[in-house]
Amino acid sequence: MQLSDGGCTSLAELGQGIYAFLHSDSGWGHSNAGAVYADGKTLLIDTQYTLPMTQQLIETLRQAGLPAVTTVVNTHANGDHCWGNQLFPNANIVASAATAASMPHDFPPALMRRLLSPELAGSAAGRYTKLHFGAFDFDGVVVTPPTTTFSGTTTLTVGGRRVVLHEVGPAHSDGDVIVHIPDAGVVFAGDILFGDHPVMWTGPLDNWISACDEILQTGATRIVPGHGPIVDPDGVREFQQYLALVRDELTPRLYEGMPYWEAAMDIPLGPFRHLPMRERLVATAAATYRHLGNPPVPAAEVLERMAQAHFDTA
Ligand SMILES: [Zn+2]
Repeated sequence: MQLSDGGCTSLAELGQGIYAFLHSDSGWGHSNAGAVYADGKTLLIDTQYTLPMTQQLIETLRQAGLPAVTTVVNTHANGDHCWGNQLFPNANIVASAATAASMPHDFPPALMRRLLSPELAGSAAGRYTKLHFGAFDFDGVVVTPPTTTFSGTTTLTVGGRRVVLHEVGPAHSDGDVIVHIPDAGVVFAGDILFGDHPVMWTGPLDNWISACDEILQTGATRIVPGHGPIVDPDGVREFQQYLALVRDELTPRLYEGMPYWEAAMDIPLGPFRHLPMRERLVATAAATYRHLGNPPVPAAEVLERMAQAHFDTA
């Protein structure tokens, strides 16, 4: 299905009432979603970035014959996973307490509109935002919090079927959750898994590596990332190797005083050098810098440095 921003989506049926709503292209904002169906009930895993994109998701599920969504799980607080929440006014919306706490502050729609305004068009951050976010229509988005929160692990029931939520953050973000459907051997990993360079807003990287272990410990054979194609456990292990490489290369450079934005673009990436969106390592390096005991870097500075890294290497 063609999207208004030029991207493409498809619905993969994983069997046993499990569906993955997948975006074919990488880049910001194109997040996968999922649905679990049992006995007349539908649970949705993540909404989309904009209201038109979420309406497209709803229509795709309807065409697949799924009944209206009664439960929504938000894997984390980034807008591309939860800014469609308002289109499910009758659903129970479930997220970790840490996700609920950060949802109002996570690059809110008003900030996105300001970053896209003409007055910032001359800055690297303004140009980068226009390039990667300019096609998204944030009109009408009202950040809508979860109705149910939890910490640790909780089990939901969809038409008698068990869906287990494991809080594995802080990793990519403050309150990351993975969604395990034990009777199907499927995990929806949210942004604990990416197909291209991931971005680490919170971390540390050690927690993220442990979060991947938690995916593997479920024994699931099919894992749906927040961005990118479905993988098997070997795909999770490969992503863990990426995270370990980044940690091992970034840490000594930051200790030695290399600025985080230079360290991000300096590290050798070996087998991962061809992944798109390398500039995201700037944000990952900024978070790692903070975990080494340094003061936090303001988000506006991280965005500007990330944008500069993109245009310097483009
Ligand atoms: Zn995402």
